[in-house]
Amino acid sequence: MTRHGIKLTLSKGDKAITARVIVEAATDQASFSWDNVSYSKAFDGAGLHGLTVPLKDPKDGTRERAYVFVPATPRIDITNKTSREAGRDVRVFILVHEFIHAAGPDNDEHTLEDVFCYPGEIVKGDTAAADRLKPWGGLGKEMPPYYLICKTVTNLRKAWQSTGVGECKTEEKK
Ligand SMILES: [Zn+2]
Repeated sequence: MTRHGIKLTLSKGDKAITARVIVEAATDQASFSWDNVSYSKAFDGAGLHGLTVPLKDPKDGTRERAYVFVPATPRIDITNKTSREAGRDVRVFILVHEFIHAAGPDNDEHTLEDVFCYPGEIVKGDTAAADRLKPWGGLGKEMPPYYLICKTVTNLRKAWQSTGVGECKTEEKK
């Protein structure tokens, strides 16, 4: 992302109360309580996508924190709860996708081409380590490397106006 002018730093908070982004691996329920907000929703812990719930500061509408839920046991066949668990690269894909939500863009800004795609399609490997996710529909490649198209970069920049909504140039395809 740095290459496209978005500087993103991940740092581990020392306690949940001061963290801006809280990540949890959920099995069947996505729940949290914060200030006067109590949230609970059924969640598929065997699925291939997560859920991010942003909270805004009631005073100025700025984004205060985000709760990120990722599936605890994502499976290669979401219709078969006894199928093998998906590998690390699939889990990282899901997490990167949700971190983009945590940074601003919502479901209306999903794409068909990059890590911010919806839906994703699993490419089953012979082993969990070889499993990959790719955008459904054939417009994107298997990841990793996890990549962003200009549309997503621009939407991220819009969410962070101070970084400037500059022009994003699509690199030439070889
Ligand atoms: Zn999404």
